[in-house]
Amino acid sequence: MDRLADLGARVRAAVVGGGWAGLAAAVELARAGFSVTLFEAARQLGGRARSVELPGQRLDNGQHILLGAYRETLRLMRAVGADPERLLRRLPLELCYPAGQTPLFHLRLPRLPAPWHLLAGLLAARGPSLGEKFAAVRFLRDLQRAGYRIGDDCTVSSLLSRHRQPASLCRYLWEPLCLAALNTRPQQASAQIFVNTLRDSLGSGRAAADLLLPTADLDRVFPAKAADFLRFHGGDIRLRSRVQAIGQGPSVDGERFDFVVVAVAPQHAAALLAPREETLAIAQTLAEYRFEPIATAYCGYPPELRLPLPMLGLAVGGHGQIGQWVFDRGLLCGTAGVLAFVLSGHGLWEALDNEALVATLQKELAVALGTTLPAPLWQRVIRERRATFRCRPHLRRPAARTALAGCWLAGDYVCADYPATLEAAVRSGVAAAREIVLSASPAASPRASAAGANSAPRFPRRG
Ligand SMILES: Cc1cc2nc3c(=O)[nH]c(=O)nc-3n(C[C@H](O)[C@H](O)[C@H](O)COP(=O)(O)OP(=O)(O)OC[C@H]3O[C@@H](n4cnc5c(N)ncnc54)[C@H](O)[C@@H]3O)c2cc1C
Repeated sequence: MDRLADLGARVRAAVVGGGWAGLAAAVELARAGFSVTLFEAARQLGGRARSVELPGQRLDNGQHILLGAYRETLRLMRAVGADPERLLRRLPLELCYPAGQTPLFHLRLPRLPAPWHLLAGLLAARGPSLGEKFAAVRFLRDLQRAGYRIGDDCTVSSLLSRHRQPASLCRYLWEPLCLAALNTRPQQASAQIFVNTLRDSLGSGRAAADLLLPTADLDRVFPAKAADFLRFHGGDIRLRSRVQAIGQGPSVDGERFDFVVVAVAPQHAAALLAPREETLAIAQTLAEYRFEPIATAYCGYPPELRLPLPMLGLAVGGHGQIGQWVFDRGLLCGTAGVLAFVLSGHGLWEALDNEALVATLQKELAVALGTTLPAPLWQRVIRERRATFRCRPHLRRPAARTALAGCWLAGDYVCADYPATLEAAVRSGVAAAREIVLSASPAASPRASAAGANSAPRFPRRG
């Protein structure tokens, strides 16, 4: 993009929304030399992946997990000077559900070249029988042979039953992976999108399946550095600026720009896009979206308290169990004694008030570890009611380019290949910026760069 720097210096671009999608678009446009103005309604950047100030410490609005497969996120972190090696702890994929001394299920992918890491990890897993392990291998092999295309989309539950996956594998492996990746229960989740995430993680070499767990608060992982980068390149970041209208021109609340990227969550995009005829159809599509919550319960224990691993599973669903994952922030971020319990998707936990929720999670963890736990010294529950869109089969996703001349979309919901994740957000922002740079280039015909009449942009495909 740098070759377009001279061109871009004359071009003004507005980005509406300072989440990871908007920041990605803004950084890429600034790298191409565009004059960027970023509008953010909140008083901080980061959107649904932001830091939260508590007396004496910084936490996040939710514990986030990245994967080795988050190629664009890692690239952009480096581009703005945020070092992934320092800010993310890389661990081989390890799913462990403790039950006293013997885990109910324990899978760890060893550091072997692909596909041996997967084969060796599955065969050595504790918990499933040999027959069950072969069922998992067969499932992955069948998906690979089919090019990770499942034909007509269906739910993850249907896909698992079609591939005769045993109940214990569903309970400890596939369903937790589905919930973690899509934030949607397997009975409702899109099998094709789930398979896409398997393709790019388990199916894409050892490093792609690694877990990357933040060692610092989320602001430092990307938004703060992205903001420094933008300011250094002359960008104008306007916090506490809630945009009311996108107009012709394009314009943002009446201010003219050459390009606008609308990078807000789907429900906010629907409100911004509904008033104009050119974008009404997109708004109507987005109005059909449903959402799933995520809660993170932070508990501060005496600093001596440590988990055996940075991330542990609490058996998912059934038997009235509500806990899903618990993270040791002491092992990850150096805040000894701080645990983060994560609850994804709609569930029984929503009916509990914060105190009852923490008491239940604490009890479940004590049972899993086969020990008693001291009472937490403090607790803080953050409930994000619209954490992600519900990723169901055949969900319609808008293209990045809209019919309003110069107006583009970015956001986790625009990346059609992926569920709502940081990587989807970043990819969508990068894709919108690239298309804008191309349409602004002197080589692009004036007709093509006007009015958004050309064909829908394509996302870069992996593989
Ligand atoms: C608790 C939680 C846990 C999660 N865990 C993970 C995880 O482990 N791994 C993972 O990959 N993903 C995870 N996600 C999903 C991930 O955080 C999101 O997919 C991603 O952050 C979405 O980014 P975005 O830029 O598309 O949207 P957003 O983050 O929603 O950004 C949109 C921004 O636009 C602003 N805005 C809205 N309206 C206006 C307006 N009119 N004018 C100006 N600004 C406006 C908002 O304030 C916001 O800052 C999690 C999400 C949550 C909530």
